[in-house]
Amino acid sequence: MSSDSRVVIVGAGHGAGQAAASLRQEGFEGAIDVYGDEPHPPYQRPPLSKAYLSGEQGVEKVYLRPAAFYDSKDIGMHTGVRVESIDPAARTITSSEGSATWDHLILATGTRPRLLPIPGADLAGVHYLRTIADVDGIRAELSGDTRLVIVGGGYIGLEVAAVALTVGANVTVLEMEDRILQRVTTPQMSAFYHQLHSGRGVDIRVNTAASRFEGTGTVSGVVCGNETLAADMVVVGIGVLPNVELAEAAGISCDNGIVVDERCLTNVPNVYAIGDCCNHPNPILGRRLRLESVPNAMEQARVCAANIAGKDKTYASVPWFWSDQYELKLQMLGFSADGEDSVLRGDMAANEFAVFHMSDGKVVAVDAVNCPREFMAAKQMYGKAVDPAKLADPSVEMKELL
Ligand code: FAD
Repeated sequence: MSSDSRVVIVGAGHGAGQAAASLRQEGFEGAIDVYGDEPHPPYQRPPLSKAYLSGEQGVEKVYLRPAAFYDSKDIGMHTGVRVESIDPAARTITSSEGSATWDHLILATGTRPRLLPIPGADLAGVHYLRTIADVDGIRAELSGDTRLVIVGGGYIGLEVAAVALTVGANVTVLEMEDRILQRVTTPQMSAFYHQLHSGRGVDIRVNTAASRFEGTGTVSGVVCGNETLAADMVVVGIGVLPNVELAEAAGISCDNGIVVDERCLTNVPNVYAIGDCCNHPNPILGRRLRLESVPNAMEQARVCAANIAGKDKTYASVPWFWSDQYELKLQMLGFSADGEDSVLRGDMAANEFAVFHMSDGKVVAVDAVNCPREFMAAKQMYGKAVDPAKLADPSVEMKELL
């Protein structure tokens, strides 16, 4: 790869930060310029609803790498700069800094929160959670006296509930489906987390949709059905939308994300997309996916960097995720919906168990709560046949089953 080649990365999030670092690790000697519309160098979003929200982790610890790293690697970090357009034919981008050329372009534009289009949504005290700025706004208002209503019983909503409860806030979670985590996990896991949060004092209301926020200037209530819940603060966590508009306007193929192949390449030569914004093929699962997960963004960043540096690398990973709520660490591998049967190992009442999801006798997913050993073993067991009776028996070591 010639040293006068130039890579431009759009979006300075998790995927972008890793792609820039990986390009140097792969020996890429040309120019690298990263453009991000937030005023921070690439940072980790998972702590935003966990240790950064609770105040245990400061902003420097949230950064993926110290800001000085990028200077030391001769990576141009253009923070607070939004890329407005891409011209694939001229190989340029335009931003408030003017026009810049590229030989390779990486789109790592992530997602944005899905907005709740109901009356009162623009009142002060109604928050979304995607950025450091969002959390700073929430933290400034959250105290032991706060009556917090969370709209959406997904992972982010439940993580916020757990932190807010430890601060002493009065927390209600509204979920329009008939169970929390409905989109992402099994009824068994939904019931487990429902009980966990209710037991700690969170008021969870399923089959309940917010229809209006009330207040004069600042939110004071949430209307759902015939009831109005008093609220000093609302956090809305109802999913995200991929940031594809920039790509779409440039004629790059999009379909629930920017469409890429197994090398992270779009339909336009030398234009790649990685992370939450991209729709990619997964050869292990045999279908296309758009994932919202750090491991996925990191791996695609490595694949795309290797390919730009002249190697030939393809993406083939089993998706995995995690969520921290109270003292419970949930680690998930694969998709539980791919299983027909499940095997429980451990003790749900003791908050230490793993549910293995099986299809044709083979492990296709796992949900592990406070069971890192089972989770690690499941990564090696994925797609392999395992004796369910032995798997369910905690006296049989995981090592023996591998
Ligand atoms: P992002 O990190 O979202 O970065 C994209 C960046 O691009 C953003 O800064 C965006 O503003 C910027 N951008 C977009 N368009 C432009 C433009 N035109 N010009 C300039 N900049 C632009 N994942 C897990 O695996 N585990 C977890 O526990 C977990 N918890 C999470 C908790 C929260 C609160 C959130 C919000 C996410 C969490 N995630 C978690 C998801 C994880 O953070 C994402 O999967 C990851 O950040 C994806 O990285 P990315 O680079 O694709 O996008």
